[in-house]
Amino acid sequence: MVKDTMQTLTQQPFEDYRASLLTRVKRLVVKVGSGVLTGPQGLNLSVINDLSTCIFEIKQKGIQVILVSSGAIASGLKKLRFTCKPKTVSEKQALAAVGQASLIMAYERAFGRFGQKVAQVLLTRDDLTNRRRYLNARNTLITLLSLDIVPIINENDTVVVDEIKFGDNDNLSALVTNMMDADLLVNLTDIDGLFDKDPRTNPDAELVGVVGKVDQRIRNFASVIPGFLGTGGMSSKIKAAQKLSLAGIPTIIANGLRKGILKEIFDGKEVGTLFLPRANGLCKRKHWIAFTKSPKGEIIVDQGAERAIVSNGKSLLPSGIIEVRGKFGVGDSVVITSEYGKNIAIGLVNYQASDIQRIKGMRTNQIKATLGFKYHDEVIHRDNLVLTSEAEEGIEECHFSN
Ligand code: GLU
Repeated sequence: MVKDTMQTLTQQPFEDYRASLLTRVKRLVVKVGSGVLTGPQGLNLSVINDLSTCIFEIKQKGIQVILVSSGAIASGLKKLRFTCKPKTVSEKQALAAVGQASLIMAYERAFGRFGQKVAQVLLTRDDLTNRRRYLNARNTLITLLSLDIVPIINENDTVVVDEIKFGDNDNLSALVTNMMDADLLVNLTDIDGLFDKDPRTNPDAELVGVVGKVDQRIRNFASVIPGFLGTGGMSSKIKAAQKLSLAGIPTIIANGLRKGILKEIFDGKEVGTLFLPRANGLCKRKHWIAFTKSPKGEIIVDQGAERAIVSNGKSLLPSGIIEVRGKFGVGDSVVITSEYGKNIAIGLVNYQASDIQRIKGMRTNQIKATLGFKYHDEVIHRDNLVLTSEAEEGIEECHFSN
């Protein structure tokens, strides 16, 4: 087993750290991928039964559990006897609608064996990017947990199209874990964890037991080949783990096809790959700005503004702005790019795009005369800005989705 450098939270040996981490878990998010939940005949009921048994047992230790479950599209696919994943969005949406019903029914039955109640929660990206809806979703989940219910979350695939999707359930589970202040994400997939090579093609591939920091070497380890039915492959799991590490939350990626895997993890067995949390992570709000809101536009700045923002911790003023791209409103998030095309930060704007067009390059004392009003001196205040380097390059590309 390969062990990566541990330059984070602890000087403890890895095994001790893992054990003490597990004893501190009070709220857990478990994510299960389609490749684990579905087989050639459709939903894999023995996996679902095993998972629900383990989750029920973990709950008996006083740990709250939230399940993020994929498998709707894959299950709908089998149910409607499609031979491969359809290409059109509307067909995928239809499959998700059919499959989600079977999925939740299977969980109801499996958890029902112990009298454990479950709830279906279908989220869209808008539910988390809009601060009010984000807080609503969070309150509902907190209420479900306080009623001793296991929330089972999936993306509401039936109503979203690609441009407004979370991307994949790895990302969704990371955002939910952070939103819910959970102590750990267990991401169950169809291989044992992160390997130094693709184990499907390299018999000498070694499992990486612990990752201190997601760097280029770790990203290279991640196979970019997605599973047949799942969406993201190992790369998206690593991105999700990195996001959580930046929020100070650990992740374990493990094999959900291995019977009793959750029990093994909570019994302290060294299975899967543990991603350590970073000691000085982003605060919750900055994490939300960096990772949950999707950027709606781009502001290109000159070298003076780049220096002020990156090296001197300053806000973005109109004077340093060269160009504005995309249509966005007050409070939307935009990417800040240097004049040489380097993505340097992301932040929430105080002015809409068309107003920034008019005040770009100006001094702050010219804002009022030009627009007829002035909300703030800053186009993006420092408190609402996250440097790309702070987010370890994890900030999303800008898609100008409006
Ligand atoms: N939401 C999709 C489904 O339930 C899965 C997305 C994913 O696996 O990342 O089918």
